[in-house]
Amino acid sequence: MTNQNDFDVLIVGGGMVGASLAIALRDQPVRIGMIEAVAWQVEDKPGYDDRTIALAWGSRRIFDSMGVWQAMTPDATAIKTIHVSDQGHFGFTRLDARQQQVEALGYVITARAIGKVLTQQLAEQTNVTLISPATVTNLECDKHCATVTVNQEGQSRQYTTSLLVGADGVKSTIRELLSIDTTMKDYGQTAVIANLTTEKAHNHIAFERFTRTGPLALLPMDDHRCALVWTVETDEVDDVMSLDDDRFLQAVQKRFGYRLGKLLKVGKRDAYPLRLVRAQEQVRERLVLIGNAVHTLHPVGGQGFNLGLRDVATLAQVIAEARHTGNDIGSLPILNHYAEWRISDHERVIGFTDNLVKLFSNDSLPLSFARNVGLLVADVLPPVKKALLRRTMGIYGHLPRLARGLCLQEPEHGT
Ligand SMILES: Cc1cc2nc3c(=O)[nH]c(=O)nc-3n(C[C@H](O)[C@H](O)[C@H](O)COP(=O)(O)OP(=O)(O)OC[C@H]3O[C@@H](n4cnc5c(N)ncnc54)[C@H](O)[C@@H]3O)c2cc1C
Repeated sequence: MTNQNDFDVLIVGGGMVGASLAIALRDQPVRIGMIEAVAWQVEDKPGYDDRTIALAWGSRRIFDSMGVWQAMTPDATAIKTIHVSDQGHFGFTRLDARQQQVEALGYVITARAIGKVLTQQLAEQTNVTLISPATVTNLECDKHCATVTVNQEGQSRQYTTSLLVGADGVKSTIRELLSIDTTMKDYGQTAVIANLTTEKAHNHIAFERFTRTGPLALLPMDDHRCALVWTVETDEVDDVMSLDDDRFLQAVQKRFGYRLGKLLKVGKRDAYPLRLVRAQEQVRERLVLIGNAVHTLHPVGGQGFNLGLRDVATLAQVIAEARHTGNDIGSLPILNHYAEWRISDHERVIGFTDNLVKLFSNDSLPLSFARNVGLLVADVLPPVKKALLRRTMGIYGHLPRLARGLCLQEPEHGT
């Protein structure tokens, strides 16, 4: 099939999700373009900041299959146990890697470290053209191609592509230019993140603790350091951010307790307002939205990027298979196949995360009793615990090949 377009796949947004898709397609015979608003060589890109990402076991498998995991391991800390508790109440549950016969339930790594590896790998990739710094100003889709107009260093340029991928984050311009509606739920909460030094070693345990104002997570990093993700009510965030270090540590200690001994030191703090934002459509002819552009979640449970990476693994497989069978990768039947494959994972993860926030942000007596019984039940009933584990590890449902540790396509003369 001859194709007159500039690109087969044009990705808008070079954050963790967009960059991962480009790399997942590196061995495919596709011409990839990637438009990124921030200059590519800039180290401090907004998508690659200091936030820590709890990377599920399933995501590690995807990165491994893509050939990038090895380069990330020096910056990744294994999570061997997850300890979930409710401040001031009796219930708690422990999830353990040994129960799943894996070396870790997941890994903690900063977005910056993931970004460093993805950026290096992309620089060596021959089938990608980086268009940056550039922002999309207009977009038209027809039966044969999507035509994207970009402003690139003050000049207007146009690119055509068989498939346009919107990976441009929660404020997606692509979504806006196509008037794709969103639903938005403001949780009235803000995540405060910082690195903490603790008296006792974390022993590779990730703590998720539910408090009156929202969840508080302490994720293991190197030595005696942990990454704090503390969710506070938005109208209290200025007070929390302006506390001096000692008072900040005392406030966290009061909510977290002494499982890691005394909290000794805190690093730079950052704040992120929390919302659930969902696009009403995932695909249109020539277009697909992935990652935060289609679903932005509350970080409780650490699911957002993991979900986006499964978008990547699935879309890469659908593109590879369509190419292999001579199908048009931007046609609606192909993209509908992708959307149908993804919808149940989206629904499950969004529902799970949203319910966690609702259930654990409410201090009414029946609810607090129910969730503590829930935690105890999860702790003593193996099937409940197993289901929770598989969800946390991102290994349930109909998984794409990369998430099963396989290459993108069945080998030609397979066994
Ligand atoms: C405090 C916090 C903690 C979190 N913890 C976890 C966790 O533990 N586990 C987990 O799985 N997830 C976590 N997440 C979620 C995770 O960070 C996001 O899901 C992920 O970063 C989304 O990546 P993305 O590439 O889709 O979007 P983004 O990172 O927003 O990237 C979008 C990219 O598009 C570019 N762009 C935007 N507009 C344009 C345009 N018009 N033209 C060109 N380029 C454009 C931007 O410059 C950016 O590079 C957390 C989030 C927060 C806030």
